[in-house]
Amino acid sequence: DKASIGVTGLAVMGRNLARNLARHGHTVALHNRTDKRTRELVDQFGSEGEFIPAYSAREFVDALERPRQIVIMVKAGEPTDAVIEEFAPLLESGDVIVDAGNAHFADTRRREAQLRERGLHFVGTGVSGGEEGALHGPSIMPGGSKASYESLGPLLEDISAKVDGDPCCTHIGADGAGHFVKMVHNGIEYADMQLIAESFDLLRGALGHEPAQIAEVFRTWNTGRLDSYLIEITAQVLAHTDAGTGKPFVDVVADQAEQKGTGRWTVQIGLDLGVPISGIAEAVFARSLSGHADLRIGSRELPGPSRSKLKGAEAEGFADDVERALYASKIVAYAQGFNQIQAGGSEYGWDIDLGAVASIWRGGCIIRAKFLDDIRGAYEAEPGLPTLLTSGGFNAAVADAQDSWRRVVATAAQLGIPTPGFSTALAYYDGLRAPRLPAALIQGQRDFFGAHTYRRTDRDGAFHTAWATDDRAESEA
Ligand code: NDP
Repeated sequence: DKASIGVTGLAVMGRNLARNLARHGHTVALHNRTDKRTRELVDQFGSEGEFIPAYSAREFVDALERPRQIVIMVKAGEPTDAVIEEFAPLLESGDVIVDAGNAHFADTRRREAQLRERGLHFVGTGVSGGEEGALHGPSIMPGGSKASYESLGPLLEDISAKVDGDPCCTHIGADGAGHFVKMVHNGIEYADMQLIAESFDLLRGALGHEPAQIAEVFRTWNTGRLDSYLIEITAQVLAHTDAGTGKPFVDVVADQAEQKGTGRWTVQIGLDLGVPISGIAEAVFARSLSGHADLRIGSRELPGPSRSKLKGAEAEGFADDVERALYASKIVAYAQGFNQIQAGGSEYGWDIDLGAVASIWRGGCIIRAKFLDDIRGAYEAEPGLPTLLTSGGFNAAVADAQDSWRRVVATAAQLGIPTPGFSTALAYYDGLRAPRLPAALIQGQRDFFGAHTYRRTDRDGAFHTAWATDDRAESEA
């Protein structure tokens, strides 16, 4: 008997995906550059399903039913190209290569074009949920051709997370669309984590709560509209006590956040596409600031308010204010991320269903949340929605959050608590609201020093003012 799918690259992610497939009754061919991982998988988990271990590329390819479907789950970058080059010559027209690693979507577009010329389908696929997700049901974001999804889709949907019976997997769009959407997912994840971290910092800084108390606050929030995986694990991390010192875990961890790069990609691409994803950008910058020990000079050399606490009436209700500010800021961050997907879709010609994207993020992935069901609903009701901020429920929530949001950002500024995520979300919101922006002045400055011209509110055309002359005459460019 042959295998319906093969997995090459059997480190933690590949191993768990292969086990997930086998547990769902699919026969899985196994391969890894070095044999050890293949043997170990069969030794430890062989009883979970039907595996066909292969110890050469040829053996692996021969173990597969046609059209062959090969999932590559190796270290992203050059290793992916090396593995593609190893297998592609052994495959035949119509076979499918799936890259489930964290590839940059531009690499995926390049690989897809090259393999298409050779008659092969190449499906760059985002997989979210870490190793647990890979084993128990991840959120899966496949790109590539529609034709490839006909054979591959049912398998991937089968092993994906399910929410209300719906699989957290859908065909996202052609070539790199899946990896693009996975990238934005990670960017949104950065923003969401930053906002949650700022909420913690505010509750601690402004109210003087201990981490264990704040864990309770998050636990309560997790029973409401903020119900999400990230809030749930936040409560657990905050409640954790370091065994060695007896101190709160968060107080013994070095406060320098690391990153593997997908958040940075999101911002780089956001800049290229001209999409204002300030929430994601601030989250990436906040991580890099935290890592700059050299710049973090401290309050002895950098003057500012001392860290006083709120008292009495001011303190009362502040936690509720933070909840509203967090929710509103989160809506902004997601609105920006979905706008980036929209922009990527137009730029690269992908027909991305934003409601479907929200739907497959409801389970399996790191940003899974009740909230995403509302986003799905918003795009289902109005597919061309320019921003989530105008959609019914979100619009009402943001209206309701106004006073709290502004109080929280003002309080943070007064107390000297850094809240780049909250602040930029509010600034973005006010930017969208403003009847006039000082961009008009910037156009004037640009025209002054660079004759870059400007458009007028009252007439069509491009205009230039002769700034260097006495009469400053205006001419049409
Ligand atoms: P790693 O990223 O650590 O990659 C290890 C695997 O890559 C091993 O199977 C290794 O083979 C193989 N490999 C490395 N270089 C080569 C090469 N030149 N040729 C052939 N094979 C090579 O494994 P993970 O399981 O952590 O991640 C796999 C992919 O999934 C990555 O792209 C990652 O970004 C992505 N991902 C990871 C998540 C996570 O939570 N870890 C979540 C979502 C996606 P060998 O055993 O021979 O060294």
